[in-house]
Amino acid sequence: MLKVASLGSGSKGNSTLIATEEATIMVDCGFTLKETLKRLERLNVVPSALDAILITHEHQDHISGVGPLSRKFDIPVWSTRGSLLSGKCGKLSNYSVIEGFNRFIIGDIDVLPISVPHDAREPCQYLFNADDKKLAVLTDLGSYTPEIIELLKSCDGLLLECNHDEDMLWNGPYPYSLKQRVGGPLGHMSNSQAIKLLQSIIDDNLKLLIASHISEQNNCPDLVQRSVATAIDWPLGDVIIAEQDKGFDWLAVS
Ligand SMILES: [Zn+2]
Ligand SMILES: [Zn+2]
Repeated sequence: MLKVASLGSGSKGNSTLIATEEATIMVDCGFTLKETLKRLERLNVVPSALDAILITHEHQDHISGVGPLSRKFDIPVWSTRGSLLSGKCGKLSNYSVIEGFNRFIIGDIDVLPISVPHDAREPCQYLFNADDKKLAVLTDLGSYTPEIIELLKSCDGLLLECNHDEDMLWNGPYPYSLKQRVGGPLGHMSNSQAIKLLQSIIDDNLKLLIASHISEQNNCPDLVQRSVATAIDWPLGDVIIAEQDKGFDWLAVS
């Protein structure tokens, strides 16, 4: 069984777990070591059970805990060359270099890095395949490409960034330059962008939908749930929210 959980998601830290009976993968670790251990315990995961940490990109909310966690428990890290060369990932003794759209295997999980438009050196997000199920995890992207649309079709599970409501962002308190960055094509996905992407990929396979990286200033979880569920006519109850503090508990991709 393929399953997914979150230690937390948002501008103060992101970390997602993907697991089968055989392998457990962590995508990003944007929390302090102490906080990470606390959050792993909440999900009943001991750090030594982690087979890999995958980096999406070098922004602090994704990598601040990667070095300390990987060094303390000797967990191998997988990253693009650009993220490593940014010099922001800390000292890593055990790492492998990956490239966008070149798949690799961890245990029984097939991993495909998806190159995405975002303002980092070589950002990627990930598509996981195991037990005949397909799960995509996309937390930071300012826009989407035809390749992304193609790869997200027929997914069984999708964790997708719904960062901001466009009106709240542009009428909100951020300085203009930050509004331009967040709202630009290399920034973060708005609710309406996420909805448009969902509308072009949704089919009967999709059973698990999770909204992530929700801005505390420029969005609200209720609005995401309501607007997304209505726009895509989501029949399966709530869209799950990956919360900053609580993340979400283990969910099966079925
Ligand atoms: Zn980022
Ligand atoms: Zn981020």
